[in-house]
Amino acid sequence: METRDRTHREVRSIDGGIATLSVKIRPSGLGLPLLVERYMNAKRLVLKWLFESRINPNEKGVLSMVHNNMYRVLREKFSLNSRLAEDCYRDALALYKAWYNNPRKGRYPVLRNVSLWLTSRYSFSLDLEKMKCTILGKHVEVTGYPHNIGFYRGWFVKEARLVKRSGEWFLKVIVSKEKKRRGRRGEGDGFTPTGLVAVDINMSGVVVGSDDEHYVRIPTRLEDAHHYKALAELLQRKYPKRWRESRRILNRIRHFHNHAGNILNDSARKTGKLVVDIAEGMNANVIVLENLNNMITCVEKLGKAYRDKLYLMQYRRIQYWIEWQALKRGLKVIYVNPAYTSTQCPKCGVEMREVRHRWFKCLKCGYENDRDIIAIINLYIRGRGSLTLSTAPQVRDVNPNQWGEPPTL
Ligand SMILES: [Zn+2]
Repeated sequence: METRDRTHREVRSIDGGIATLSVKIRPSGLGLPLLVERYMNAKRLVLKWLFESRINPNEKGVLSMVHNNMYRVLREKFSLNSRLAEDCYRDALALYKAWYNNPRKGRYPVLRNVSLWLTSRYSFSLDLEKMKCTILGKHVEVTGYPHNIGFYRGWFVKEARLVKRSGEWFLKVIVSKEKKRRGRRGEGDGFTPTGLVAVDINMSGVVVGSDDEHYVRIPTRLEDAHHYKALAELLQRKYPKRWRESRRILNRIRHFHNHAGNILNDSARKTGKLVVDIAEGMNANVIVLENLNNMITCVEKLGKAYRDKLYLMQYRRIQYWIEWQALKRGLKVIYVNPAYTSTQCPKCGVEMREVRHRWFKCLKCGYENDRDIIAIINLYIRGRGSLTLSTAPQVRDVNPNQWGEPPTL
């Protein structure tokens, strides 16, 4: 029964006793697909309502507002059960929020993929021993799962996301070694910071650390991605007329673009995990990131090389995966304003002078270092400051989603 095709060869991530298993399933009959269709239509309706009512998803109490306006409709018009109706509007709200807070958002929050949130026991069950699966009361056949599934026997099945890709169905299941999830961010959970690390994401690499002696550099694979993107563009230039018509050339171009995309996705995910590993290794449970909204405007003022679309996307992706890993493992992510963090002297606060490429020196106190290191020291200082200043715990209305995953990009 076990298949090992590319789509679910791997367990996506194992860390701190939590993993995401990709299980391939085949629904029997039309019951499930039709229910999924109702859910997706319901999700679309909630998105439309949020959009047309110009709801600010960052406001307090937005979740109960959505509940009051949409719950009954989802129950009655779309015949979703109470749990699924709740999951559905939360799902829509998370998507809407991601769209709303994205400075480069499109005109409308488009729903591209079929994806459902499912709560364990209420909406689905998966027996890891017998690989038996039920979704929304309907039995589904499991047709593939990770080859090392045995490793997870005895783990606890948490939430899942049902997704449909190229006509095939997958259940992305979160499993946990411990019964209880560890501290999630916010919600007044009595989070006590043990230490901080700051993260600087730039074109050449990601730097994680707390000062000029304690840091780790992680290379980005932006250049590799650029290489494949350039190959694709080369072909388009080489066959300015033919490339659209020739299936062979078109396939080559598509291949290079896909390859570039895969490299970036893969490296962003790994970077996210690595950053949290490093933080834990440094006994830190708070990760300081640059506030993206500010960064976008900064980037637009920067040189041409920085106005790189791939870089911006990658920046967002890396932050996304850091946040996702941090949430899963009970670390807190805080965002600080990055203005001047790479040029201000961390010792005395005056503006530093660039003496060599990316190397800055303070003319007042003589401190000098690499731009990235200066950035993490300053981010660290700002992060520490904002942490001691904020008295109230950070409460998020829409918890990214039910299992702590940040909203999609
Ligand atoms: Zn100085």
